[in-house]
Amino acid sequence: MKSPPSNHQVRRSFSSLDNREISVHVLREELPKYKVKALINLEGVWFMPKIAIIGGSGFYSLLENFDVLNIETPFGESMVEVGSIENVEVAFLNRHGKGHKIPPFKINYRANIYALSAIGVERIIATNAVGSIRPEIKPGDFVLPDDFLDLTKRRDYTFYDGETEIFIQGKAVREVVHISMTPSTYCPEIRDAVLTAAKNIGLSIHDGGVYVATEGNRFETPAEIRAYSSLGGTIVGMTGVPEAVLARELCICYSTVCLVTNYAAGISGLVKLTHEEVAKTYAEKLKELRRLITTAIKEIPKDRSCPCKDALRGALVESP
Ligand SMILES: [Zn+2]
Repeated sequence: MKSPPSNHQVRRSFSSLDNREISVHVLREELPKYKVKALINLEGVWFMPKIAIIGGSGFYSLLENFDVLNIETPFGESMVEVGSIENVEVAFLNRHGKGHKIPPFKINYRANIYALSAIGVERIIATNAVGSIRPEIKPGDFVLPDDFLDLTKRRDYTFYDGETEIFIQGKAVREVVHISMTPSTYCPEIRDAVLTAAKNIGLSIHDGGVYVATEGNRFETPAEIRAYSSLGGTIVGMTGVPEAVLARELCICYSTVCLVTNYAAGISGLVKLTHEEVAKTYAEKLKELRRLITTAIKEIPKDRSCPCKDALRGALVESP
């Protein structure tokens, strides 16, 4: 077993596999002292996954072998699985928690994204279960959105509250930050990787679309869906925002693969929407989604040449 670096702190431990104790060594470099990295000791190997998958409704596990980390952040705790799939180091975060106990408006999006950043994640492929606003996009279809509309109401939308010190890319940031969601709302490199993966495995996916984020927990009304449609919405879900924004705030590449589980209210007549229907469609398509994600992971270029890593450039409000 390799020894941990000397300037480390042992932070937390326990394994999902057999409850054996493991140690996680968080490296805090002296200069700059704010750089935080995590080295994961899994069966004698130091893991530093740069890619994370976020699982939504119906997608609660991915990794073949993994350990579970409880990661403390300034915004609360988050639980992240770290391990590998087909020999690629990956982190997996179950957005709704064990047993799907966390509703969309109660998810601690900030703790989740900050925790992924703290262990060194630079890329996130998220997954979302969505309703379709467009008749031609059917239940069971996959959609790779290229933009979103935020209609959520009561969430924590930013890390940069003007008080909390954020550790990012070796620096501490406490300023107000106005992050840009252009030139591309979602990471173009992750989107390309997913599209290539879909092509390679012969899976049809809608390239582009506007994700409408709603507060939940109820499904939308037919009038709301008509309004979202006239606003340019393609699909509707409850968890896509602020996750995408928070990832951008920490310069993490983020894109989401959406699985259409049902037609949104009023699109296929006035039928009652049920979570049962959502779960059923998801279960039928889960195997394909896993294959798509696993293939996409291998298509992601090693080095980032997308703009995401420079998201903070020009975004800080400097003191006059
Ligand atoms: Zn990117």
